Amino acid sequence: MKKKILAALMIGAITFTNMGVGALSVYAEETDGQTTDGETSDGEGQDGEEPCVHQWDTVYSVDSLMTCTEPGQISIHCTLCGESNEETVISVNAYGHSYEHFVTQATTTAAGKQYDKCEICGDVINEEVIPKASSISLAATSYVYDGTKKKPAVIVKGSDGTIIPAANYKVVYDSGLKDVGTYSVTITFRGELYSGTVTKSFTIVPKATALKSLVAGSKKLTAKWTKQAIQTTGYQVQYALNSKFSSAKTVTISKNTTVSKAISKLTSKKTYYVRIRTYKKVGTKAYYSAWSKAKSVKVK
Ligand SMILES: [Zn+2]
Ligand SMILES: [Zn+2]
Repeated sequence: MKKKILAALMIGAITFTNMGVGALSVYAEETDGQTTDGETSDGEGQDGEEPCVHQWDTVYSVDSLMTCTEPGQISIHCTLCGESNEETVISVNAYGHSYEHFVTQATTTAAGKQYDKCEICGDVINEEVIPKASSISLAATSYVYDGTKKKPAVIVKGSDGTIIPAANYKVVYDSGLKDVGTYSVTITFRGELYSGTVTKSFTIVPKATALKSLVAGSKKLTAKWTKQAIQTTGYQVQYALNSKFSSAKTVTISKNTTVSKAISKLTSKKTYYVRIRTYKKVGTKAYYSAWSKAKSVKVK
C-alpha cells in the first residue's frame, strides 16, 4: 500500500511548487512500523543497548536545503532515532540563479552603475560603471548671420572620453535659429542609463563689414565703409595710434544706413589705425560682428 505525502517544504518563502519542480508528491512505503532487513542486527552485542527498531516517518524531512548552485536532499527519517533511510533519499535540483538587472543611472555630475543580481542568493555579476556624462558641447557656439537656420550638433561624452550615443538623450532647439541672438539647446537624457537635463546656448552675430577708405584731413580723418543693414542696428568705429588698438577709442554709429564718419580732434602728423564692426541690439543685449581689417592714415 502506498500513501501519498506532500512534502510541503518551505525554503525561505519559496516552495517547490513555486520553483517549477511541480507539486512534489512523494510516496513512501507503509512499513507498519517494521524495519527493513538487516538493520535490526546492527549494534547487537553492545552493552545494554538495544538497536533501534526504526519507525519510519510518513513524511519526508529536509536533509539539506537546495541553493542556487547546490542541490538539496530530502529523505524519510526514523521517528525514534532520527536516522535517515538511504533508500528514500531524493535529490532536489539546484534552483539556478535568477538574475535581475539593476541600474543606478548616471548623470552629468555622478557616475552610475549597472549589474545583475540574483533575487534568491544575492549573487552579483556583470557589474559595470556608467561614466558620468561630464562633457556636453555644441559643434559650434557662435555663428555669423547668413539667413540660414543654425542647428549645432550636440556632442555628449562620458568622463572616460567615449561618445555617448544620441539614443540616450533628446535634443530640443529653440525656435527661430536664424536671426542674430542667443539660442538654447536643451539636452534631456532618456533611456535606462542616464538621467538629467542640460541647457547649452549659442549665438548668431551680425555679418561684418569692411572699411572702404580713410581720408586724412587737418587733425581729422573720415572713414567710409560698406553698408551692412541686414540684421544690423549700426556700427562701431575704433581708432588708435597703434595697430594693436591698445588705448583705442570707439565711436558708435546707431543707424545702419550711415556709411561714413568724420573723426576730429586728432593729433597732427600722427598715423591712426581704424577698424569697424557691426552690431545688433536684441532686447538689451548687443551682438557684435568680428572687427574688419584695419586701415591706417596719417592725419595732416
Ligand atoms: Zn530509529
Ligand atoms: Zn542565486
